[in-house]
Amino acid sequence: MAEIAVSLQNINKSFGSLQVLRNFTLDVREGEFVSLLGPSGCGKTTVLRIIAGFEQPEEGTVLINGKDVSKIPPEKRNIGLVFQNYALFPNMNVWRNIAFPMIIARKPRSEIERKIKQLLSMVKLEEKGHRYIWQLSGGERQRVALARALAREPKVLLLDEPLSALDAKIREELRLEIRRIQRELGITTIYVSHDQEEVLAISDRVVVMQNGVIQQVGSPSEIYFMPKTRFVANFVGNIN
Ligand code: ADP
Repeated sequence: MAEIAVSLQNINKSFGSLQVLRNFTLDVREGEFVSLLGPSGCGKTTVLRIIAGFEQPEEGTVLINGKDVSKIPPEKRNIGLVFQNYALFPNMNVWRNIAFPMIIARKPRSEIERKIKQLLSMVKLEEKGHRYIWQLSGGERQRVALARALAREPKVLLLDEPLSALDAKIREELRLEIRRIQRELGITTIYVSHDQEEVLAISDRVVVMQNGVIQQVGSPSEIYFMPKTRFVANFVGNIN
């Protein structure tokens, strides 16, 4: 049995009078690809922001590799992020965008160069290291964002709707790429999307959420063929 990489225990989180997460409890195993699925506003991004350390829950515990991270700031949590609004620097080239987190971490130049070569090859942008971000397509930008997120060899990767701005064909191509890279690295990944088809295709396990409450956790086929609630059945579109 794999170790638990991320454990969320009885998380409660409110913004003002709005309770966004209620007793949110979830264990993600090392190397697993788990998706949070649910309609807009159900609390998915808030879960990722709590894991990343950008938000503090009022109650509950977050463990990363068994360690309580409540006192650990985001930059020390060793997490890779691709957020919708986690923008690349448009006026820097691809190489510098990916190098940025390693420069901040004061990695030696030779190590940065070796790592970037490896990352560019992984995301299939070997030829584009010198291009500026504004010269890239949407799909290429998300490849750069993924490479940058992986630059410091994080233990956990958090992806928040990384494909939602792309058109269908690129989305499908890139989701296969994401899964290939995730498997290759064996990196624990939590993926957020409101797109049921995408989530069912890509995930080891799916967490279906409604109004900050987990409705069901299961494999894609359990979620699709054995929905536990009417809401899950409706949301994954398998109503008998
Ligand atoms: P999802 O990712 O499922 O779309 P979010 O986690 O982004 O949902 O948001 C859940 C709810 O919390 C929404 O109603 C949203 O408006 C609210 N919310 C999120 N962040 C904040 C914030 N910083 N301040 C106030 N309300 C917020």
